[in-house]
Amino acid sequence: MSEKISTRINSLAVSQTLAMAQKSRELQSQGIDVINLSVGEPDFPTPDHIKEAAKKAIDENFSYYTPVPGIPELRKAIVEKFKRENNLDYTVDQIIVSAGAKHSIANVLACVVDVGDEVIIPAPYWVSYVEMVKLADGVNVIVPAGIENDFKITPEQLEAAITPKTRAFLFSSPSNPTGSLYTKDELKALADVFAKHDNIIIISDEIYEHINYVGKHESIAQFENVKNRTVVVNGVSKGYAMTGWRIGYIGAPLWIAKACNKLQGQVTSGVCSIAQKAATAALTHDLSTTYKMREAFKRRRDLVLEKTKDIKGMKTSVPGGAFYIFADVTYYFGKSYKDTLIKNPEDLSLYLLAEAHVATVSGDAFGDPNCLRFSYATADDLLIKAMDRIKNALDKLS
Ligand code: PMP
Ligand code: GLU
Repeated sequence: MSEKISTRINSLAVSQTLAMAQKSRELQSQGIDVINLSVGEPDFPTPDHIKEAAKKAIDENFSYYTPVPGIPELRKAIVEKFKRENNLDYTVDQIIVSAGAKHSIANVLACVVDVGDEVIIPAPYWVSYVEMVKLADGVNVIVPAGIENDFKITPEQLEAAITPKTRAFLFSSPSNPTGSLYTKDELKALADVFAKHDNIIIISDEIYEHINYVGKHESIAQFENVKNRTVVVNGVSKGYAMTGWRIGYIGAPLWIAKACNKLQGQVTSGVCSIAQKAATAALTHDLSTTYKMREAFKRRRDLVLEKTKDIKGMKTSVPGGAFYIFADVTYYFGKSYKDTLIKNPEDLSLYLLAEAHVATVSGDAFGDPNCLRFSYATADDLLIKAMDRIKNALDKLS
């Protein structure tokens, strides 16, 4: 019996955010007091009104297969959300509900990318983008942006990366892992570049829309010159503390929505009926619970940034959104403690896990070999403890 896994899956990297989260769970189960700043997920429980909607759906036996692209009331709630919060016009048939934004992005890539098509991704990028492009037989074209430019690419860099083979552009704003946000003017400048190149689909991952500390969320889909080839990806995981419910969605040009519908019809069917009812409740309620969580995240961001000021050589930006600090840690490369030599961010991440019992994620996972990611979606007292432990461990390196 050959146990050969397909080349497609063999060549796929393991998700490092999930791997680090798993590693810290394992250490915790051995009784080691690990503080987990690796995975990015709100530590709050799902708000009560959302849980109530799910309980009601169970009691009312809402337990049958649902339409492949989502139940009509949820798709309608998404259309209304896009209009109300983003001033974007979609019809219900342009909305496809999937099992998380992760699934939505994988679907869209599978539907628009052909073998050898290029997908431009600004780095730092979210860990799964490049692997999903590989799964779709596409070719990643990475455009790097450093901390000196707030981790954002320029229109000139974008123009230079475009070739006749470019099929898509995939980015997040607010960004995971950097927390950076493109301003309206910056998005307009990128849109103006795309407007000169007909064949490119923009996949705009807006999952952190509501975790924004600087002002109104801006979507690149607002610009008329690119609206008809932009796919907006969003979901309820981050803004409504619903990571485990697995609901994501797209607002897309009809031809892309139809293709995603066809794909889901063969692969997943409509997603969990109960979770769809819960998501409908989330999207039709006011945002008061979301804003409360956002306030807590902002306080924690400031707390962690304040703590990093005491850590020698650690450089940070001031993230305008999401719940991550992406710190430049190159100062520590080449330093050592006992017989551990730190050569790169992965070594540093493993050192911090072993020495400080704090889980982080290496910047390599996000296409940046200079940085470490800290998720601050955890309780204030744990964050203080974690940052103190990190400082102590880093102080030992020389
Ligand atoms: N995009 C980004 C940038 C993310 O950080 C995440 C969270 N892992 C996702 C998409 C996927 O979110 P979900 O599948 O939970 O909706
Ligand atoms: N967005 C989270 C993160 O980047 C969730 C983990 C994942 O889905 O990869 O940590």
